[in-house]
Amino acid sequence: MNAKAPKGTRHVVVIGAGVVGLSTAWFLQERGIGVTVVERDHVGAGASHGNAGWIVPGRAEPLNEPSALTEGLKGLVAPHGPLRVSPRCGPATLLFLARFARHCTPGRRDRARRGLLGLNAASTAAYDRLIAGGLDVPVIDAPIVAAFSSPGRIGHLPPGDDLAALPLGEARSLAPQLGPRVRAAVHIRDARYVEPALLVRGLAKAVVDRGGTIHTGRTVTRVRPGAGVDTDDGTIDGDAVVIATGAALSTLAKEHGVRVPVAAGRGYSFTVRLSRPAPGPLYLPEQRLACTPVPGGLRIAGVMEFARPGARADRHRFDRIGRNAASMLSGADWSDRTDEWAGDRPLTPDGLPLVGPTRTPGVWVAGGHGMWGVTQGAATGALLADHLATGVAPDALRPLDPRR
Ligand SMILES: Cc1cc2nc3c(=O)[nH]c(=O)nc-3n(C[C@H](O)[C@H](O)[C@H](O)COP(=O)(O)OP(=O)(O)OC[C@H]3O[C@@H](n4cnc5c(N)ncnc54)[C@H](O)[C@@H]3O)c2cc1C
Repeated sequence: MNAKAPKGTRHVVVIGAGVVGLSTAWFLQERGIGVTVVERDHVGAGASHGNAGWIVPGRAEPLNEPSALTEGLKGLVAPHGPLRVSPRCGPATLLFLARFARHCTPGRRDRARRGLLGLNAASTAAYDRLIAGGLDVPVIDAPIVAAFSSPGRIGHLPPGDDLAALPLGEARSLAPQLGPRVRAAVHIRDARYVEPALLVRGLAKAVVDRGGTIHTGRTVTRVRPGAGVDTDDGTIDGDAVVIATGAALSTLAKEHGVRVPVAAGRGYSFTVRLSRPAPGPLYLPEQRLACTPVPGGLRIAGVMEFARPGARADRHRFDRIGRNAASMLSGADWSDRTDEWAGDRPLTPDGLPLVGPTRTPGVWVAGGHGMWGVTQGAATGALLADHLATGVAPDALRPLDPRR
C-alpha cells in the first residue's frame, strides 16, 4: 500500500486553508518541502473557524455507533433534536446516510475505533511539535467537566482511561456555571483546547513566515496529475497536490479514485457573556453541547444537521441550542448571543478520515475527520508529510487509506 512520493518532490500545492490543510503545509515545510496553499475563500472559512476547539484524543470516537441509528431516525421526525435530517437534504445525502447506517454495527464501530487509535495517539505530540516549532497560539491544558442530570446518565459516556470521578460539590466549585438541574459530573482528563480561529490564523502565519505562499479567494477547479492545479484564476504548479477541502473533498477527489464519499454534517455555535469566567470547558452529553471558555464568555457548540447542500443556516437552531444549554447552566446572558456561526463537519460513512495517496500518482487527500478535525488535524499533517516525503506509509495511516 505504500505509495512512492514523486521523486524529488520539492513543491506541494495544498488545497484548503482549514486546520488540516494548514497543518499539512506546516509539516511538509518541516520536511524541507515548499508549499503553496490555495483557498477559495479566506483562511479558516470552513469548519475550522467556530468549532469548540477541543483537543481530546481519548474522546475522538467514530460517529458510526449503533445508537446513531435510533438518533438518526429520531432526527428525521424531531426537527429540534441534536441530530436533524432535513427531508429536503437531497439524494446524495440520503445515499450517504444509507451507507453510514450500514457502518453503525458494533463490529464496524469497533473497527473504526481501532483504525483511529494511531492517529489519536499522535495528536498530543504533533501539537507539541507545532508549539516547539514556534506556533504562536495558546494551546491550553484544561480537564473538561462533563455534567449530567442524574448519576445514571454518566454510563452513557463511552468509557476511557481519561475519565475520572468528580464529586458534585467539587464540580460546582470548579465550574460555577453548573445549574441546579445538574446532579452528577465527571472529569475528562488529557484535554486541551484552542481558540480555533486563532489556531488557523497562527498556522497560516507560520506557513507564510517559513516561506510558504497562501492564495485566498481562488477556487481550485481541477487537480492536474503531477503538475499542480487549475483554479478560477489560472494554474498553480507543484510536484504533488494535497486535497484538504473539508466537506467539499469529494468534488475534487472523486476523479482520482476516492470512492468513499464525504458529506457535510452541519454544526452551530455562538458565544454568550458570563457573570463569572469559566475556568475550563464544559460538556453537556445529554444535550450534546460542547462549551468552551472564550475571553469574557463561553462558546456553545453542537447539533448535527444534514441539510440541502448550500442551504442557509437555520436560525431557530441558535434559540434551541440556547434553551438546551440554559437548562443545565446558569450565570450566562442568554439574550445576548454573539459570533453566531454554522460550519460543515466533513463526515465519512465508515467513521474514518481519508489520509494518504489517491489512485493518481502525486495526488493526495487529507480530510473527512468529522467531529474531530482539530484533535486530529496536526497529527494528520505530521503523518501525511512523513508519508509524502519518504514514500512509506506510517502504520497510523494504513486504516485511513483513501483508496479503500
Ligand atoms: C460545531 C462544531 C464543533 C466542533 N468541535 C470540535 C472540537 O471541539 N474538536 C475537534 O477536534 N473538532 C471539532 N469539530 C470538527 C472540526 O471543526 C472539523 O473536523 C475540522 O475543522 C475540519 O477541518 P478541515 O481543514 O478538514 O476542513 P475545513 O476547515 O472545512 O477547511 C476546508 C477548506 O477548504 C476550502 N475549499 C473547499 N473547496 C475548495 C476549492 N475547490 N478550492 C479551494 N479551497 C477550497 C474551504 O473554503 C475551507 O476553508 C467541530 C465542528 C463543528 C461544526
